[in-house]
This record gives sequence, C-alpha cells and structure tokens, in this order.
Amino acid sequence: MKNYDVIVIGSGCGAIISGEAVAYDFKTALVDRGPLGGTCLNVGCIPSKMLIYTADRIVEIEEAKKLGIEAGISNIDFKSIMERMRHNIQENQSHVREGMKQAKKLDFYEGEGHFTGDYTLEVNGEKIKGKKIFIASGSRPFIPPIKGLDSVGYLTNETVLELKAKPDSIIIIGGGYIAVEYGHFFAAMGTKVTMLEMADRLVLPEEPEISELLRKALSKRMAVHIGAQAIDVKQKGNGVAVLVKDKKTGKEKSFNGQSVLMAVGRRSNADILKVENTGVATDNRGFIKVDQYLETSKKNIFAVGDANGQQMFTHVANREVVIVANNAFHNARFKIDYSAASHAIYSHPQIASVGLTEENARKDHQILVGRAKYNDVAKGEAMMETEGLAKAIVEKETEKILGFHIIGPCAPVLIQEVVNAMTSGGHSGEIDQGLHIHPALTELIPTVLNNLEEP
Ligand SMILES: Cc1cc2nc3c(=O)[nH]c(=O)nc-3n(C[C@H](O)[C@H](O)[C@H](O)COP(=O)(O)OP(=O)(O)OC[C@H]3O[C@@H](n4cnc5c(N)ncnc54)[C@H](O)[C@@H]3O)c2cc1C
Repeated sequence: MKNYDVIVIGSGCGAIISGEAVAYDFKTALVDRGPLGGTCLNVGCIPSKMLIYTADRIVEIEEAKKLGIEAGISNIDFKSIMERMRHNIQENQSHVREGMKQAKKLDFYEGEGHFTGDYTLEVNGEKIKGKKIFIASGSRPFIPPIKGLDSVGYLTNETVLELKAKPDSIIIIGGGYIAVEYGHFFAAMGTKVTMLEMADRLVLPEEPEISELLRKALSKRMAVHIGAQAIDVKQKGNGVAVLVKDKKTGKEKSFNGQSVLMAVGRRSNADILKVENTGVATDNRGFIKVDQYLETSKKNIFAVGDANGQQMFTHVANREVVIVANNAFHNARFKIDYSAASHAIYSHPQIASVGLTEENARKDHQILVGRAKYNDVAKGEAMMETEGLAKAIVEKETEKILGFHIIGPCAPVLIQEVVNAMTSGGHSGEIDQGLHIHPALTELIPTVLNNLEEP
C-alpha cells in the first residue's frame, strides 16, 4: 500500500487540483483510466465546438440569401472536417501527457480505480491510500433501457467522433443540448436529421419560449418530434428503425435512419468508483452528494465537476476546483455559489443562459420580466435578425438580476456582461450606466432591462 497526501481521481478538472497539490509539495497521485484530459478535451466541448464551427459557417452562407447574397456551397469535405478535429484532440492529449511527465512529484496511475475501503483505492491491482481525496470522475452517456437498442450499433457523443463518412440520415434520440448541437452539425453537413424528444419541449432547463424558438428554427432544417418516446429499435437493412410512441395520443410511428445517436443525458461514474466503500453518499440519481464547501459525506473527500451533478459544465467544474483547492490546501472556507452560473448551447440559433428561469424565480421572489428582440436594436435590424430574443428576470423590490436568457447570434458572448454584473451582486441600473457601443448587439442587454414589467 502506497500512502499519499493527496489522491485525485480524474484528469479533466482534476488535473488542475493535482497540479496545485504538487505545486504545494504534497505527495500526490492522479488516477485516470483515459482518455487523458477528460470529457471536455476529448469527447465534449472541444471536438463538438470544432465541428459546430464549420456547421455555423455553412448555415451562415445558406442564410446570406436573406441579405441579397446568393452563394452556393460546392463541396463539404466531411472526412477532413472530422480529421481536423481528431488531429486537434490527439495534439491536446499529447500536451496533457507531456505536462504530466514533467510534474516530477506526481504519481500517475493510468487505469480504472475503485474504492476498496476508507480513503483507499485499488488501481491496476495496486492499493493506494490518501489523506485528502478529490473525486473528479465526471460522467458518461446515459443509455435508457429501450427495447432492441443494445442489438443495434448506436452512436454516443464519444463514438460519433470516430465517423469517417457522413451518414445520409441520422436519428437523434434526445432533445437536450448535446442533441440540438449535433442535430445542427449533421443537418449542416447535409445529413437528414430526425430528432426524437420524449418531453414536450427541447432543452428542458431553458425558458419555454426559448425552447419553442429553437424548435421552430431547427424544424426548418430537420424533423423535430417532441412528446415522442422511442420504445423499440431494430436493424433495418443497413440502417435502423426506431418505433416511437406519441406521449399525448399513444399512437405509434416508425422512423428510419442510417444511424442512431443517443443523447438523452449523462449519468454518474460514482458506481464504477464504488464510492460507497469509503462512506461517500450519492443522491437518488447516483451523483455524489456535497455540501456548500464541495466536501462529500466523508471528511476530507471532495467531489467536483460532473461527479457532483450540480452544474455539469467545464467552466463550473474549473471554478469548483479553485474553491476546493483553497479549502483543502489553505484552510479556507469558501462556499460554492451557483446563482450566476451560466451556460451556452451551440446549436443554431445559439442559446445562453444565467441564473433562474421565470418559473424558478417566481417560487421565492416577486419579479419583473423584460424582453427585447434582436431587431429592437440597430445592429439586430442590420442583421435582419427577426427571431432572436433576450429575456431578463429581475427582483421587483431591488431590481437585482435573477436570471437572463438569450437565443440568437453571439448569445454566449452577449451574456457575459450580465454574468459579470450578477457576480458582483448586479442590479439592472448598473448595466444601464455603462456606455454601450452603438450600433452593437450589446445594446440588447440594456434594452431588455429597460423593458421590465409585471409578468
Ligand atoms: C458532447 C458534449 C459537449 C459538451 N460541451 C460543453 C461545452 O461546450 N461547454 C461546457 O462548459 N461543457 C460542455 N460539456 C460538459 C463538459 O464536458 C463537462 O462538464 C466537463 O468535461 C466535466 O469535467 P470533469 O472534470 O468533471 O469530468 P471529466 O472531464 O469527464 O473527467 C473525468 C475523468 O475521470 C476518469 N474516470 C472516471 N471514473 C474513473 C475511475 N473509476 N477510475 C479512473 N478514472 C476514472 C474519466 O476517464 C475522465 O478522464 C460537454 C459535454 C459533452 C458530453
């Protein structure tokens, strides 16, 4: 048995903690079964956004017609688009490996670990024990028990990256952010896309009106079915047939496609890690329970990133890491605060969101709601952007911003001003005081906040 001051499980956001531990001279072990660098780098944010950037350019060319520009796309080289992405991942992975080799005081265990007892793990047949343990074990695709699914070769966010040739058609089961991002990508590539979402709207955590605008926009480029529960999957010729039950009418209908992409959500990796063997509790979804300091039910064991199932985004994971590192290594007592946690969805149109939705805000606050369309500001008008929308939810008494939601071009960039304001306790007046360049899409933000009214 080898003893460590610090053990970190997971080389996504976990690599930041192991780096910090080594920098402070703690005897440190990092455990990862690979791919090195975690989800974001290998099978999440980075590869998907590389692919989606090309999709955005294609749609931009197609949509230029409304501005009086007719341009044809003569060829889309799917193979080279995929190869560029894979090459980039390989390079990034090598950089991570190189960085780890250089961290002399770090023992890297490349293998799948599991807890065998208190503060004790087994990896590749070796036992290791840590005084402080950081679980950054991430999540994996959730695969629902649909009849026949296991007998057909379905794709996930991991295997989809291995495609060498463009599928002629694809059925995407799910309507969350991964589904609508890949739906956008494949539709732009020229693949016939069918999206099947069991709930009555896409991207459930978003404002319903934003879900609806997204559904309308995507429906122009693909078949989107909501309230559609996939109940049976079969091989059909060289492709698959998915039998779907309409949740409202109970009627069944079959859809055919060359491939199926499963994108119905994520599940915890805590089961593989057998966290119960060290007394770490999980919630009813299997994610690791943490307190405000990100400590688990077991003293000196912390869970960060997707492992705690709170806000499953890279930038949130990276913030959590800073908090636990300070708490665990420097005796700080920083609490995590998700009230200004933001996220983006890189579909077409793009979506960005921070804080509470109107429905959630109403539970604890008296609120005012503001809305503006992109073409309410000069730049949006110039862009002929008739669909995009922004919505603010503000506390009535204090005008403190509780939530902000945008659908339209540059949404992830535009929202940052609101995130910064909210992080410093921001009120709508503070945003209004800052000069906004005219004409720029940023004028959308004060415009929304000047439109506040009783909902
Ligand atoms: C398709 C897709 C697109 C995404 N796009 C975005 C985006 O645009 N922006 C954004 O902010 N977020 C995005 N995300 C989410 C983001 O990728 C995750 O929130 C983030 O990567 C979580 O980081 P993590 O460090 O918690 O876990 P991970 O990066 O998943 O790291 C966990 C590591 O632990 C290892 N591991 C797990 N169990 C064990 C074990 N028992 N033994 C050894 N090793 C183990 C895994 O192999 C993995 O390397 C996306 C996710 C997906 C799937």
